[in-house]
Formats: sequence, structure tokens, C-alpha cells
Amino acid sequence: MVQAGKSQDTFLHQDEKYVWHSMKPYNPDGTMVVAKAEGAWVTDTEGNRYLDAMAGLWCVNVGYGRKELAEAAYEQLKEMAYFPLTQSHVPAIKLAEKLNELLEDDYVIFFSNSGSEANETAFKIARQYHQQNGEHNRYKIVSRYRAYHGNTMGSLAATGQAQRKYKYEPLAPGFVHCAPPDAYRDNDDGTELKAVKAIDDVMTWELSETIAALIMEPIITGGGILVPPEGYMKGAKEVCEKHGALLIVDEVICGFGRTGEAFGFMNYGVKPDIITMAKGITSAYLPLSATAVKREIYESFKGTDEYDYLRHVNTFGGNPAACALALKNIEIMEKEKLFERSKNLGAKLMNDLKTALKDHPLVGDIRGKGLLVGIELVKDKSTKAPADVSILNEIIAFCKKNKLIIGKNGATVAGYNNVLTLSPPLNIEEKDLSFIV
Ligand code: PLP
Repeated sequence: MVQAGKSQDTFLHQDEKYVWHSMKPYNPDGTMVVAKAEGAWVTDTEGNRYLDAMAGLWCVNVGYGRKELAEAAYEQLKEMAYFPLTQSHVPAIKLAEKLNELLEDDYVIFFSNSGSEANETAFKIARQYHQQNGEHNRYKIVSRYRAYHGNTMGSLAATGQAQRKYKYEPLAPGFVHCAPPDAYRDNDDGTELKAVKAIDDVMTWELSETIAALIMEPIITGGGILVPPEGYMKGAKEVCEKHGALLIVDEVICGFGRTGEAFGFMNYGVKPDIITMAKGITSAYLPLSATAVKREIYESFKGTDEYDYLRHVNTFGGNPAACALALKNIEIMEKEKLFERSKNLGAKLMNDLKTALKDHPLVGDIRGKGLLVGIELVKDKSTKAPADVSILNEIIAFCKKNKLIIGKNGATVAGYNNVLTLSPPLNIEEKDLSFIV
């Protein structure tokens, strides 16, 4: 046993008594209490080992048990534990510089603690930017149905999954949605780009001059791994330019090698105006997030009136230990070539899954990029009607019994919670990928 003297049952009893989780749909087969983790494997309090093919919540990109990350944080905490970023400190400066190098362009970085906050920051910056340019009516943020952008009132308003908002509304005003790219159902190989037209239409119908920004993930992840057709993201950027809107790219999951590039947008040849990131930035060892803003936008925040600076303070954002750890995390990713590894192993995983599963009557589509894969289950391949969630729950329970953790995503509304998901640590061993298959 990992924790001597206490059984899993005792922990579960205490857990039930004291800890409030995001519950039922997440753990259809019960809560697991984990006590140790190493590489891609986690160990529960009874000593059972599981391969974590979700890297926690799509975030432990360099794998568990990296002592050098703990040491980087420890050293920083001893040297200088905290100073607010209303002033500055060395780890934040170094990390902002390093992020710029990874982004391959000129961005100024605002640090927060979570993906939700990074997106909130982006929305405020986008709105204020237009205000300062004299476009006082530009406040609406466009996003896509099925996308998840966070749990706070603004980031949840941007989220396109009605089941997550139900009973919490009204949320922040000024958010409008359009259809996402669903290449499998639209039969869109990139020639039609119906989903680009959907963005154009919503911006037109809502009145161009009221639109502040479009927020999008390069690949919709939590909404069911919706890999867009070629040309979609470029088309989305062109539509933003046509309507005078900024393009905010949410790299909270797609960033830091998940899709085989440093950032997901790099697969699609676009330059976003604002980029948000979290999760993989520290491989989730400590909380940290960032909102990277093109210098031209940043420049408009100085000089004219009393309220033209960013009035947005975040006490913990850019905590020195988290920044030092993030730098070490990126160093590991570079030293071990984890972005390339994600691309190569992801291609192999996809190929092996297709070979093993493509003729299975339940498997409608297998898609992804890098070590980000979705397996869409259907009732009937010809109608593409989504499979019942009970089947996915059964599969997840079966995998867990066999020591494998996988995910389930989509949109509960209309029964589209029908995509099995894989997002393992990028340093997962090849034999473990075969175990998944
Ligand atoms: N954006 C995306 C794409 C996410 O997947 C998530 C969380 O899963 C968030 C934003 C919100 O991040 P956080 O949970 O750190 O607030």
C-alpha cells in the first residue's frame, strides 16, 4: 500500500465527506484516490497502477515525477517566494522572453493562474483595445458551439456547451456563438469550409461594428476533438480581419506540444492577435497561465487618458515559483524534443488505432493531431447517430478495470457526449501506446 494505515475505502469515505468534486458525469465508475505518480502512470492508495492516457486533465505534458521541476520551484521559493506583478520579478521576465521565442513573434505577456483567467484577461484586453481605438461599440465575443473556454462567468459565457451553463445563467453578456467545424458530419474536406461561413454569418448578422473578437481553439478539444478541415483557421482569421475583430486563440490544451507543434495554431499557418495558455505551461505541477498579446495591441494601452492602462490585477498570477518551474518545464520539452515526439508518436497511435478499430461497427471516426486523439462512437455508421453515453461509460469502466484511464468528451446536449479521448503525457513510452491500443 502506498499510504500505510489507510485503505482506499477510508480515503473514499473521507473524500465523500469533505471534498466537493465536479461529480457524476466525470466519474461514472466512482472516484479514484491517487497517491503517487511517475511517468505516464499513477498509483492509487491501494497500490494499483493505472496508465493515465489523459495526462490528468490534458495537462501533465512532461509526465509525472519530474524531480527537477520540484527543485526549480523549491530553489525559487527559497530565493524569492513572492512579489506582485504590478511591479516585476526575474522569473516572470525570463519566462515571458522564453514564451516569445516559442511563439516566434512579438507578444507581451500577462500572467494569471488558470486557463479561465487567461481567457477573461483576453476578453477584457480585446474590449478595451477597441475602446481605445475609438470603436466604442465593439464588445461582442464570438465563439463556437461545443468549445469549452473555462468556468468563470465570462469564460463560461464563451463556452459553447449549454449543459455547463444550465442553472448558472445569466452569465456575462455580450457572447454569441456559431457552429463549429465538424468535418465528419459536414463531410467537409476543406473545399466547402461551411464553418468559416458560419463565423462570417454571425459577425454579419450581429453587426460587424459590434464585434470585438473571435475566440477559438485550433482544435476543439473538450467538445470532442473537432479537427478542422484544412484552411478553416486561415479562413477564420480572414473573416476576423474583414469584420475588424481580433482573433484570440485558446491554446490551453493545444499548446506546449499537444498537437505536435509548440502551439496548435502553428499547424494552420495563422498569426493570432492574442494567445491564451495554461495547463502544459507548467505541466500542471503548479498553477500558471498566460495571455500573450501582439505588441501593436499592447502599444495602444498607453498614453492618452486616465483609464487607458490595463486595470487588471492578479495577486497570484505569475507566481515566481510557477514561472521558474515553467522555464524548467519548457527546457525539458526542448531537451527531450517532446513536440516532435508528440507529432511522431501521435501519427503512430492514430495509425495503430485506425488499423485496430476502423471496421468496428461502433467506431464512426478516429481523428486528432499529435498526442491528441478522439474516437467518435456512433449507433450506426451510415446515419452517424451518436452512440449512447452508457456505451462510452462501459468502455471507460472496462479500461479502468484493465488499468487504463481514458476520457470522454463532446456535448451532452443532443447526445453528442460520444467521443472517447486520449491525451497522454508527451513522454509516454511506445510500449504504453501499444497498451492503449
Ligand atoms: N480553455 C480550454 C480549451 C480548456 O480546456 C480549459 C480547461 O479545461 C480552460 C480553458 C480553462 O482552464 P482552467 O480549468 O485552468 O481554468
